[in-house]
Amino acid sequence: MIPPVLPTYARAPLAFETGEGCWLITRSGERYLDLGAGIAVNALGHAHPDLVAALEAQARRLWHTSNLYQIPNQEELARLLVEATFADTMFFTNSGTEAVECAIKMTRRHFSHNGRPERFRIITFEGCFHGRSTGAIAATKGAKMVEGFGPLMPGFDQVPLNDIEAVRAAVGPETAAIMIEPIQGEGGIRVAEPGFLRELRALCDAEGLLMILDEIQCGMGRTGRLFAHERAGIAPDIMAVAKGIGGGFPLGACLATERAAEGMTVGSHGSTYGGNPLACAVGIAVMRAVTAPGFLDRVSRVAGHLRQRLEGLVAGHPRVFAELRGEGLMLGLRCLPPVAEVIRAAYDAHVIVVPAGDNVARLLPPLTITEAEIDEGVARLDRAAGALEAAMERAT
Ligand SMILES: *Cc1c(COP(=O)(O)O)cnc(C)c1O
Repeated sequence: MIPPVLPTYARAPLAFETGEGCWLITRSGERYLDLGAGIAVNALGHAHPDLVAALEAQARRLWHTSNLYQIPNQEELARLLVEATFADTMFFTNSGTEAVECAIKMTRRHFSHNGRPERFRIITFEGCFHGRSTGAIAATKGAKMVEGFGPLMPGFDQVPLNDIEAVRAAVGPETAAIMIEPIQGEGGIRVAEPGFLRELRALCDAEGLLMILDEIQCGMGRTGRLFAHERAGIAPDIMAVAKGIGGGFPLGACLATERAAEGMTVGSHGSTYGGNPLACAVGIAVMRAVTAPGFLDRVSRVAGHLRQRLEGLVAGHPRVFAELRGEGLMLGLRCLPPVAEVIRAAYDAHVIVVPAGDNVARLLPPLTITEAEIDEGVARLDRAAGALEAAMERAT
């Protein structure tokens, strides 16, 4: 019999009742160290006092009006993001998928507005993930995501990551944009080389294409910079953000330059909840925390500590871990046994890591994690790896 909740998820047999910082606690009081942060969502950890205060204060004032009216929280959050990024303007959403959807629509509209409606194709990259709407799965093209959902929305061409010649070959008279995650999350923490991002930027400029970044997972301080592309010294024309930007409250945004957004006139796009007062109150508190002096420097510092400890872990368990990759607090351990077994062993050691493509276990801890918590987390992963090795011994 089908359960009341549609069974589309392979859920772990874990249910948490409360969260405190980097810790998740079950009803029976068992404490798990959370190195997944709800897939990079809880950027400031669980129950951060600033976010709780912002949400409670807004909850007492006003929950929802509508985008029929001015929403001051939305304007303030947009102003903070404009000040801190390449963007001149943005559209607020409730999720990453909707931010990507807005990016796709904005791209098509940009070219049709400029008398070039034949330019509608977007180049994406193997291993990418841009969400689950019909537009986003067409962009993503992953077999298990598109199977049975066809016909797919046309207009997406996919090429290998970090292969500029393949991108050049894919550009044609109908190409409108290139869309890329500076670090692929779901694909297995696969990093787009900074040089490659610069070559893409140059190609977009030469061919008159828009550069769309999907920083839904890698953005909002996770790499030690506010946004991951800053490391390459480039700026996009359009950028989708979500996950960490709401710190656990559903919030996303599609940021853009004035030029990229010029087709998005009144009535061209909309959302009932996008930029809701509650979501934006929390978003403002997250932005203020992440852009506070010293916050990102601290992220870089603890990230260096985590990387160093994980290098030791990988070296100590060559039968379990093949490779460490990623940047900042967005790291991946490529596993030798099936990643599901590694994730399960980690649960047994009361530490949470997140599976990704390419047999990778992802570490995306709250940006507020301390060095002591990192040491504790790596000690727990060490125990998990030891248990897997013991099981392998017994099996041979
Ligand atoms: C999570 C994610 C999405 C989709 O976001 P949702 O909020 O699940 O709709 C899109 N792109 C990337 C890179 C993501 O990590």
